[in-house]
Amino acid sequence: MEELPVPEPGPGEVLIKVRACGVCHSDLHLAEGDWDQLKPITKLPLVLGHEVTGTVERVGEGVTDLAVGDRVGVPWLHWTCGECEYCREGREVLCGKQMITGVTVDGGYAEFLRAKASHAAKLPAALSFAEAAPLLCAGLTVYRALKSAGLAAGKRVAVFGVGGLGHLAIQIIKARGAVPIAVDMAEDKLALACELGAAHTINVGGPENPRKVMRALGGAHIVMVTSGSKAAYETALGCVRKGGTLAVVGMPPEPVPVSMVALVAGEIRLVASAVGTREDLRELLDLAATGAVRCRIETLPLEEAAAALARVKRAAVTGRLVLVNE
Ligand SMILES: [Zn+2]
Ligand SMILES: [Zn+2]
Repeated sequence: MEELPVPEPGPGEVLIKVRACGVCHSDLHLAEGDWDQLKPITKLPLVLGHEVTGTVERVGEGVTDLAVGDRVGVPWLHWTCGECEYCREGREVLCGKQMITGVTVDGGYAEFLRAKASHAAKLPAALSFAEAAPLLCAGLTVYRALKSAGLAAGKRVAVFGVGGLGHLAIQIIKARGAVPIAVDMAEDKLALACELGAAHTINVGGPENPRKVMRALGGAHIVMVTSGSKAAYETALGCVRKGGTLAVVGMPPEPVPVSMVALVAGEIRLVASAVGTREDLRELLDLAATGAVRCRIETLPLEEAAAALARVKRAAVTGRLVLVNE
């Protein structure tokens, strides 16, 4: 813990009093320097945290759409230019000039955060600060991935990994009238998936071949892999129905071999997705405000941030850990 000066909001910026910040697996990767691609752009020293919720404490010059006291969320995508080809195509997640909360600028493991008014999302009144926080990365990431993969009513959608991301994915799939199928190797996580509305569960560590089980169900229109396991991807590819889509979310550190013959023969699409746009976030927050998507959270005081990261490392978390400032 360190004392830092309270940041000054510049033009177009707001100062946010942080009320909650989700603990994401990416925070651990950043803290341990696992991602070479992000190293050159990472601010050092850095305050982590990109699932931030709180209230607007002060507004900078020129801010008209947010006022003191507004309840807001600040996601991974801290700022985008709005002018490049990608921004203009509505794909701001690909903006080359993007700033990232808790990576290129300080994040939400703190009492105060400076944010861009243009990229802070107003929170629906129905969501508490702690409950809303994980939607800003975990929820948003799976929401966009499912949307890009063509989620629609009636489709069978398999989710590999029922962790922070996966348990939210199952609820989004159900809310859209599709059929969630949960795949994991932990019985307690599969039990949670059932509770959240999974129509089928498959234990990859069990005696049955997951591909056979999935084939008996007709195969999945969409298979989304949230875990960073190469083995999960290898199994997942065999579970996609012909004409179906593999949604790539989890990132194994090593390459995953893919048979082009299998892709061509089955007209399988691979769709990769990186967090989400402001539009995706608004849609997800609206959906969550109906009560259809609720994150399982465990709250800890901000002072226990290091202990929280240690638990993420040990995978000793069901749902999501959220740091709170009382
Ligand atoms: Zn994250
Ligand atoms: Zn841009």
